[in-house]
Amino acid sequence: MVYQAYADRYTDMKYNRVGKSGLLLPAISLGLWHNFGGVDPYENGKAMLLRAFDLGITHFDLANNYGPPPGSAEEMLGKVLKSDLAPYRDELVISTKAGTHMWSGPYGEWGSKKYMIASLDQSLKRLGLEYVDIFYSHRPDPNTPIEETMGALNQVVRQGKALYIGISSYNADQTKEAVAVLKQLGTPLLIHQHNYNMFERSIENSLQGVLEDHGVGSIAYGPLAQGMLTNKYLGGIPGDSRAAKGRFLKEKDVTEEKLSKINRLNELAGNRGQSLAQMALSWVLRRGRVNSALIGASRVSQIDDNVAALNNLEFSAEELEHIENILKS
Ligand code: NDP
Repeated sequence: MVYQAYADRYTDMKYNRVGKSGLLLPAISLGLWHNFGGVDPYENGKAMLLRAFDLGITHFDLANNYGPPPGSAEEMLGKVLKSDLAPYRDELVISTKAGTHMWSGPYGEWGSKKYMIASLDQSLKRLGLEYVDIFYSHRPDPNTPIEETMGALNQVVRQGKALYIGISSYNADQTKEAVAVLKQLGTPLLIHQHNYNMFERSIENSLQGVLEDHGVGSIAYGPLAQGMLTNKYLGGIPGDSRAAKGRFLKEKDVTEEKLSKINRLNELAGNRGQSLAQMALSWVLRRGRVNSALIGASRVSQIDDNVAALNNLEFSAEELEHIENILKS
């Protein structure tokens, strides 16, 4: 059957301007780091992508190495684009990244022009696209001049292989440098992708201020702390959870101390009429400082649960204080 997107898909989603650019991103975006690889059931991944789009999630985030095996998440999205989403290409913002290890030898990771350009060419082939909307430097390279990495980003925009560029995991000083170099090159830095959730708040120290000062957008990955900021682990570690699989989140990360906070946060979320996942996403988006919360999901129902966070984005001063007290305890 030919997929037909929901006619009302834009009614309930909220779209936020990315920094001082012309681009709007959905308040909730979907990342394909986990559960969209060659080892994962294709039909489940496809159902999640189509449901997300039906809910107004117009942004899908990738990196060259997402899988496993590396590259297979891009291939997976490429297949769904071909079979179902191609008619909607102009309604989608697709991003990918290069920076972490992708292939053997001296040209398969970090930030050289040699690697960055080759990697994007490979990504475009896997995705079956002529251009991506956002291309990121996935991490700063301590051994390559920032002018070279930013020069590569500028070049792909000039070549039409990417519309916008971003950086990820650069600290506040590195971000300032990137902004300055890119300004000289004439391609503005669109967006910074960083970790941010109730348990990981380091961007509040200085990066967040730098982004605002320079009009750079902000997208927060891991807003649910890989699933810990949900009701998932309240009754133990489910066998099919990310912590049980133990690749990036480990059982030992779900500590007693965290569980005690998660329990109290869950209670507060209930008082707000939200699931903990919904409250955690509303919290990341509070005050409009983060443009989009970049979630992951392992099943369609999680996407439904998460998007419903948008029904209650407001916090009273007392609620925010209560959250601070729980997190500090
Ligand atoms: P999250 O913090 O949103 O964690 C997602 C996981 O939480 C899901 O896989 C699922 O785990 C669980 N979950 C999600 N919703 C619910 C729910 N409603 N109820 C219960 N459990 C839920 O984000 P990720 O860590 O997945 O990261 C999101 C995206 O961010 C990635 O796909 C990637 O695009 C990007 N990213 C970027 C990085 C970078 O360096 N730039 C680094 C990491 C991520 P389970 O499988 O257990 O069901």
